[in-house]
Amino acid sequence: MPEEERLPFQAEVSRLLEIVAKSLYSEKEVFLRELISNASDACDRLRYAALTNPDLVAEAGGGAGYRIVLSVDAKARTLTIADNGIGMNRDELLENLGTIARSGTAAFVKGLGSDAKKDTALIGQFGVGFYSAFMVADHVAVLTRKAGESNGWRWTSDGKGEYTIAETGGLQRGTRIVLHLSEGEDEFLDEDRLRQIVKTHSDHIAVPIVLARAAAKEDEAPAEETLNRASALWTRPRSEIDEEQYREFYRHVAHAFDEPWMTLHYRAEGKIEYTALLFVPTAAPFDLFHPDRQHRVKLYVRRVFVSDHAEGLLPPYLRFLRGIVDSEDLPLNVSREMLQNIPLVAKIRHGLTRRVLGELAKKAESDAEGYAAFWGAFGPLLKEGAYEDFENREALLGLLRFRSTAVEGWTSLADYLGRMKEGQAAIYTIVGDDLETLKKSPQLEGFRARGVEVLLLTDPVDEFWIPAVAQYQDKLFKSVTRGGADLDTIAKPEAEGGTDADQPKADTAALIAAFKAALGDQVKDIRASNRLTDSPVCLVADEGDMDMHLERLLKQHKQLDTAAARILEINPGHRLIARLADEAQADGGAERLADMAFLLLDQARIVEGETLPDPAAFARRMAEALERGLTV
Ligand code: ADP
Ligand code: MG
Repeated sequence: MPEEERLPFQAEVSRLLEIVAKSLYSEKEVFLRELISNASDACDRLRYAALTNPDLVAEAGGGAGYRIVLSVDAKARTLTIADNGIGMNRDELLENLGTIARSGTAAFVKGLGSDAKKDTALIGQFGVGFYSAFMVADHVAVLTRKAGESNGWRWTSDGKGEYTIAETGGLQRGTRIVLHLSEGEDEFLDEDRLRQIVKTHSDHIAVPIVLARAAAKEDEAPAEETLNRASALWTRPRSEIDEEQYREFYRHVAHAFDEPWMTLHYRAEGKIEYTALLFVPTAAPFDLFHPDRQHRVKLYVRRVFVSDHAEGLLPPYLRFLRGIVDSEDLPLNVSREMLQNIPLVAKIRHGLTRRVLGELAKKAESDAEGYAAFWGAFGPLLKEGAYEDFENREALLGLLRFRSTAVEGWTSLADYLGRMKEGQAAIYTIVGDDLETLKKSPQLEGFRARGVEVLLLTDPVDEFWIPAVAQYQDKLFKSVTRGGADLDTIAKPEAEGGTDADQPKADTAALIAAFKAALGDQVKDIRASNRLTDSPVCLVADEGDMDMHLERLLKQHKQLDTAAARILEINPGHRLIARLADEAQADGGAERLADMAFLLLDQARIVEGETLPDPAAFARRMAEALERGLTV
């Protein structure tokens, strides 16, 4: 007997197995789709590997054609799915079927709530397809031999925390998965049922899926029946593919569980020829912001799979796309590493990008609500595009959507321009961490009072694309948290009586001088401003300085350790400022105002979300001011 090792599943795998078996799939029958999908991937991978190493498929018994064979043993109550694809060696078995290797996955699984249904769409991305076998089987054996290697392996498990692995001789190249069906799952021994499941979920698979029937009599040849069309889905005309087939293909190619939000299938003809079948998912993949920014569209060359994420095939900001591109012109023998240097790949990228952006624009036009859902999931990526894809910048800017002070839902830049006030020269923006805090920013007060719309931005990328893009049409972007966001040129609505803003303005010259003397280099400057209506003070960045939110962001990420001094703006229309202005003009008033200056500066810092440099001093001054208030 060969030696058998018994090993535990990685903790996260055990947890996933539980979720998959109990609640992931609404229909058990999809286990077959998942196993066939894996078998098909294995054939694709071997076909590619054999391009440079033909020996891999030349071995005896290897067979020329790739295929997936289903067979049933009613007596033993087993269903077997066999492929002659690339197979797995021992290490790969351990890694693929015993752990979750993908980065970030373990952390995600640990954080999964008990409400697994809600997370369903996401779980699929972790490569759990294989484990779906345990929905219908109480014992699974995987017999596999990797192409080009002589040792075969037998992996078995009951899906309950442990698996065994042992070396096994006499195996054909590829992988056989033997499912010992659980009690009550006999339907999967029925040929008609298997035929129907393959038709429903796996017809699009390009490799033949064959049902093998044991010979009825001894001298009879075993019968075989191909259950699928066995031609690549994307090569068929669109009119012959229904929505369900597109969806099943999407799930296969993207390892996804959700519905495609958009399907784009076309053939480019002319100088360069390729077919693209691309999908935009509904749910955002969990690793969308992984630093590798790798796209996930597979490259085929004349129906032969070449790469899962050929570099240069798509710009990184389109990494939310799933699907395939099949080129007629690329050489098959090109190594994956060389792909990005081929001019043809760049041409395909240009074509794909333009096409995808065009389709998104159509969607945005025809179905604003649906587009909003897409925007919610993938919006920040299009902002990355606006930042780095100069060639398509106008198209990308047209696709961006924003929260704003003027509308409830999302708005576009074009709509913003349409609402601009007379005399308004810029597109005003404010960037922060969350919408609710932003809406309360004192810097917005003067804009509100004049009915000037401000875009409210909360994506980290906003700090980068706006300065890079600088303008939309001929209007510059301008942050309201900066000096120079000048409101003087915009008239205030007339019928706005009774607000602080309409009260007589205090003469602030003496007050400003007193504050400057007290605060010294804690501030860069102190100015009277028409930016405020309700608040007495706020902080803004000087015209040429870094925006305050960006500065906080960089400090959080330890990219910056010194902060620039800010401009303190005071509101001459505010009653407190008016009283302090009077005090400043009185004899010896300036000295008495030092504490006030610090209190107001600290208050502005707090509203801005900054930490106070000296909280103890703030508390002392506050207590003293309160005490004075009591004795008045
Ligand atoms: P996914 O297909 O999303 O990666 P699965 O759970 O379906 O996740 O499969 C896990 C991994 O196991 C696959 O990525 C593949 O490396 C390996 N695998 C599964 N089935 C086969 C097979 N029939 N032949 C070769 N490798 C396989
Ligand atoms: Mg799979």
